Formats: sequence, structure tokens, C-alpha cells
Amino acid sequence: MKLDILAIGAHPDDVELSCSGTIAKEVHNGKKVGILDLTRGELGTRGTPEIRDQEAKNAAKILGVATRENLGFRDGFFLNDEKHQLEIIKILRKYRPEIVLCNAIDDRHIDHGKGSKLTSDACFLSGLRKIETTYNGASQEAWRPKHVYHYIQWKNLTPDFVVDISGHMDQKMKSVEAYESQFYDAGSKEPSTPISSKNFLDSIQYRAADLGRIIGVQYAEGFTVERSVAVDSIFNLI
Ligand SMILES: [Zn+2]
Repeated sequence: MKLDILAIGAHPDDVELSCSGTIAKEVHNGKKVGILDLTRGELGTRGTPEIRDQEAKNAAKILGVATRENLGFRDGFFLNDEKHQLEIIKILRKYRPEIVLCNAIDDRHIDHGKGSKLTSDACFLSGLRKIETTYNGASQEAWRPKHVYHYIQWKNLTPDFVVDISGHMDQKMKSVEAYESQFYDAGSKEPSTPISSKNFLDSIQYRAADLGRIIGVQYAEGFTVERSVAVDSIFNLI
């Protein structure tokens, strides 16, 4: 199966919080989208890895993605080294995505910046044919995604471009709320965390509304890039 977009996150829910509106929109447009989680989020204060596996499945269903995989790296302790790069390269060569969406380049959680650089490095290395990999016993061809865009999560980074997600905000919030163990729930007996407050859940909505305001639409999501964004016509911008 070839994907148009592969969205990669250090933890299940990173993708939903940061770029699920863009995913919902592109799925609606007929694009094939997949999600790759690097860890099972097993160090998360609330919930368990098993609960989060199920929540991730539910969120994937809500977004209508074609596939979701988890590499089972160690939450908090995975490294940007050859071993981890090769595992991501195998997935990139398996799905051959045109676009990769990945973690914020700088964020509160140390896995986010680390996951961002690891993914970006793997995307580059995946294009080098002399790095040999096999999947299910078969050797794989080199593949480099055309674009790597970094989404924005906890910190208010300044986006390099924003995507209009008006019409897909409800689906975005539903995919976030699929992580019942993680986010605001007045009845939960679990310890509170920075992301379990009502303000955090509200911030998903008000940030999208604010980014939308800036470009004159209802809701938007922001991304940063590693090189200039190229357009074939300056008339194609909103
Ligand atoms: Zn995370």
C-alpha cells in the first residue's frame, strides 16, 4: 500500500492534538493517510499502554486513516541513532509517502524535539540506496518523502504555513477525545497532568481558531518547514 501522507508522532495522541484536522481534510479529499507512533506512551501518568493502544485505534477510525502502526520504542528513552533510524526507514520504504508530518521541532516533552529530528534524519537517510533494509524478508527500495513538515504541539511556535481545517474541527476534537484516559474528564480519579486540564483541551480549539483568524478562515493548523515552501503560482494561496 502506498500512502500520500504518513503522520509520525513520538506518542499516540501527538498526531491527533497537532495535525488531525489536516489529516481529516486530506482523507476527505481522497488521499491515503497513515499514522506511525514511535512509542506506546507507556510513561504517561494516566492510563496504561493497553488503554492507549485501544484509544489510538479508536482515533484512527474517527480520522479514517488507512493504517496505523506502532514501533514500540521506549517512551522517554528512545534515541536518534542508527537502530531507531533504520526502523523508521523500513516503514518509510514500505509506505512510500509523498509527505511526512512529524513532531514539533521544539516542545515541552523531550521526546517531541527528539522524535522530530529522528524522523527528519530517517526521511533523508531513507533516500540513500546504499542503506540496505529488508521487510518481511524482501529487500526494500530507497524512498525519500518529497516534504517533511513539522506540526506544532505544546509550545506556541510560529508556523511557516497554516492549513485551513474549517469543516474538520469536530472530527479533530473527536479524535483527541478518543484518548479518554489522557485529557480533561471531570469524573477521572487519576492524577492531574499538564494535559488533563480543561484549559489544555480548550486550547486545542482556541489555537485552531486563532490560527484561522490570522488567515481569515474559521480554523487552521500550523506547521514549520526545514526549507522554503515552493508554490507553482502565487495565486494558489488563500
Ligand atoms: Zn507526546
